[in-house]
Amino acid sequence: MHGTGRRAHPALTVLVHAAKDDASLSMPNSSKALECVWQGLPVSPGVAAAVVHVLQDRFDEPVERVIEENEVEAELARLETAMTATRREIKALQKTIEARGDTIEAEVFETHLMILEDVSTLDHVRRTVRSKLRNVDAVYYTLMCRHIEALRGVDDPYLRERYLDLKDITQRMMRHLRGEQRAEISFDEPVVIVAHDLTPSDTVMLDRDMIAGFAVETGSVNSHAAIIARSLGIPAVVRLHGLMEELVSGERVVIDGDEGIIIEHPTAETLAKYQQIEAQSEAREDLLQATAKLPAVTQDGRVIRVGANAEFVDELDSICHCGAEEIGLFRTEFVYLEDPDATEDALATIYEQVVQKFAPRPVIFRTLDLGGDKLDPLLAAEPEPNPFLGWRGIRVSLSRPDFFKRQLRALLRASCHGPMGIMFPMVCGVDEVRAAKGLLDECRAELRAKGVCFGSEIEVGAMIEIPSAAATADFIAREVDFFSLGTNDLIQYTLAVDRLNERVSDLYQATHPGVLRLIKQVVDAARKHNVRVGICGEMGGDIELAPLLVGLGLDELSVAGGQVPRVKQALRKLNEAECQTLAQQALECSDAAAIHELSRTMAERCYAELMV
Ligand code: PEP
Ligand code: MG
Repeated sequence: MHGTGRRAHPALTVLVHAAKDDASLSMPNSSKALECVWQGLPVSPGVAAAVVHVLQDRFDEPVERVIEENEVEAELARLETAMTATRREIKALQKTIEARGDTIEAEVFETHLMILEDVSTLDHVRRTVRSKLRNVDAVYYTLMCRHIEALRGVDDPYLRERYLDLKDITQRMMRHLRGEQRAEISFDEPVVIVAHDLTPSDTVMLDRDMIAGFAVETGSVNSHAAIIARSLGIPAVVRLHGLMEELVSGERVVIDGDEGIIIEHPTAETLAKYQQIEAQSEAREDLLQATAKLPAVTQDGRVIRVGANAEFVDELDSICHCGAEEIGLFRTEFVYLEDPDATEDALATIYEQVVQKFAPRPVIFRTLDLGGDKLDPLLAAEPEPNPFLGWRGIRVSLSRPDFFKRQLRALLRASCHGPMGIMFPMVCGVDEVRAAKGLLDECRAELRAKGVCFGSEIEVGAMIEIPSAAATADFIAREVDFFSLGTNDLIQYTLAVDRLNERVSDLYQATHPGVLRLIKQVVDAARKHNVRVGICGEMGGDIELAPLLVGLGLDELSVAGGQVPRVKQALRKLNEAECQTLAQQALECSDAAAIHELSRTMAERCYAELMV
């Protein structure tokens, strides 16, 4: 993978000095333990050195706080709410497993419910919160950890295994207690986050300014942790199985997102080597930055708009300077996950901020794409057997019209402050687009009746990420101003390959002929109906595929902010007519690897220097 910008991280310099100082001592710290290299899958480039922060099973030890007398009832109410959510979650799981006919497994959940509702535990927690005036999550956590430790020490192997049940309940309760509290996990220095997996809900809880990298045990190039890492311009490595067992919070590591490695106990030489790599990559990025603001025009004059994808408001400063001509995809669900109860006013303020910051360049807001791996805390209580085929994206929004209209009105209100578009995710056909547009019109009427201003030229678009939407793009085109191909999902749904599943990741092929034909069909429908068509999936940022995408006729690419300068430079080196010939050849080819090779060969001929 090429193309993501690197963010310089001061921690690397600090560490090198520390290691050199150590080296001058007779017994340097860094030589006490041997350097250890972990190999995983690189998903976001760049290098950094920083301390590790292990995200323990999605919850960290809560910070103990002294509370006021008048906070006690609210704390105890949090306990009740978390218990209700946990109970609902366990019962739903139990039902699902029973439905699969696995009665023995389902019985385990009976045990879990008994643990959850254990009267003596709950009494103890309530009493301690009242008498010691401590926050409920810290009290619950401490007590449960004590039980877990006690069980781990017993001789009876059956009882010893029960500690896993306690751990499971504690995790669920902590997640709900933390969910209610929505406290950000903050850090005093840059950290490499080490986690088993990292969901969007996890990432919104982290203090992103202090994240130097992600090292994750599971995951794939298209998991949202990888997408966010590329968006933030930080290195990320996934599939580091067993890492959580080995690393402890506070120890220093190097993360190399180019090679996909984590180095534990790096020596002074290793640190010096990485400092050099970082300097070289910064020099390359500086060079690209010089042309970042110029348009991307191919050698024979075809202009291709290059935008950036964004998830968080705090990313916008860097995106503003990366040369992006628009925000081609603002994933609004991340703002939502930060505060699911945000009012229409609060949402309008946030969206306004985004529009104002980026004006006069347009911002395309995608309406909420909850579901899949982006869980709404409300939805999370009822797990679905196939969440990617379930209640997701526009389906959620259309089935909760009041909730959807709150977002639409907030977006309309933001449209007074600069150019913007609204696009709907996960549509499978024209009916959903019409229904969503109908609600948008209702919102316009409501605002008009109240005398609230909104822009008159908001573009409306559809994400094309389900094969049925691609196949019916000609119908959808009559309803919208633009299409945005969500290739991350389009590939998974076309090939029936879960984008997060490691076992089938080899089958996740962006250049599969089936995917290519669908893209071509969408471009043709767009042309016929005079509708713009772009890609906002990760495929658009892969410069090995740029010749193919130009040849297929895409008007726009929206990519991670850090990738913008490189993608623009690559496009400038291409010749559209040559790319069209290449795309013709590709469309006649039955082999995904051969198609990829065709495109890669042209990319290498035109801009080998960008593909380091
Ligand atoms: C896509 O599916 O390509 C896309 C951009 O949306 P997301 O990755 O958020 O599903
Ligand atoms: Mg998608």
